[in-house]
Amino acid sequence: MTSTVEPLVAVVTTDLSAVTRGRFVAESKLQKTATTGVGWLQANLSLTPFNSIVDPNPWGSSGDLRLIPDLKARFRTTHTGSATPFDMVAGDIVELDGSPWLGCTRTMLKNALAELKAATGLSVIAAFEHEFHVADGGFAPAHSMSFAALRRADPFAPNLMAALEEAGVAPEVVIAEFGDEQFEVTHEPADALTAADRAVAIREITRELARNAGWRASFAPKTAPNAVGNGIHIHFSFVDEAGKPVTYDAALPGGLSAKAGAFCAGVLRHLPGITAMTASSVSSYYRLKPHSWSSSYTWLADRDREASLRICPTVTIGGRDPARQYNIEYRAADRHRRTDAQG
Ligand code: GLU
Ligand code: MG
Repeated sequence: MTSTVEPLVAVVTTDLSAVTRGRFVAESKLQKTATTGVGWLQANLSLTPFNSIVDPNPWGSSGDLRLIPDLKARFRTTHTGSATPFDMVAGDIVELDGSPWLGCTRTMLKNALAELKAATGLSVIAAFEHEFHVADGGFAPAHSMSFAALRRADPFAPNLMAALEEAGVAPEVVIAEFGDEQFEVTHEPADALTAADRAVAIREITRELARNAGWRASFAPKTAPNAVGNGIHIHFSFVDEAGKPVTYDAALPGGLSAKAGAFCAGVLRHLPGITAMTASSVSSYYRLKPHSWSSSYTWLADRDREASLRICPTVTIGGRDPARQYNIEYRAADRHRRTDAQG
């Protein structure tokens, strides 16, 4: 008699340094976990990206929490080349009575979005551009951004796009980037929480595909001192309560509306604090240097890739409406990692 192996689904949370951790349950048990979640603990937030525990760890060895899956944030695909499907659900960390836990990054994001909406009536639309390096691919040298640079990795790129599509990430474009063995993948804009969940799925799906090819994909800001940096560029724009785009105002400099301009001013004002979260490793600052097209100074600029906030281009081909495309790109983000681990 043969029995089939039931696939697992992971309930995950992503910490302040963009490390995604979680617990796995049999797929048929997922519904059952939807109300009370799986066990979690405070000290997990004290784990560093270097697999040590910060000292002092404010929670010591005690304490328990629950990680509740948000079934709307499930990413599943059979296209990563693994024996069982890639299956993950983003979760929210709560206290045992269901009240939000102060250290849950996803709850922090939801609260920030709700506060912005309460203060301004605006919601954030976002999209992530992920650059990454592939190590151990054994690729022949190729020209930057060339046809051959992408084709030498075949079928990595079509498999990646198929996996992201099936997982519901809505991928847009995959490219061979400027750096040796560097690639980039983008997805369609979505509400900010969906975009953040997609970013997690994109990194994990990319890594899993590379792993199954015998390679390593790294999103680290620098994979070697002289390597071209890997940025995570976060595109954002605003819509009002009726869903109308409000980031663009043709009458103002750069086309930046007053409300969006005020938001950008706040980002620039607090950039040193924000980069403590978005570019938090030593190697981040090998990337955030002049002439790296990363973001070397605290400034907003119209279509300049050295800026920390870049006003992105709009296309008027065929009479297309700039207001629907207009967005700002935050370029001072990366994700750091254990130096010897998959990126
Ligand atoms: N690799 C650059 C960075 O570190 C970005 C290059 C580009 O504009 O795509 O952010
Ligand atoms: Mg790029």
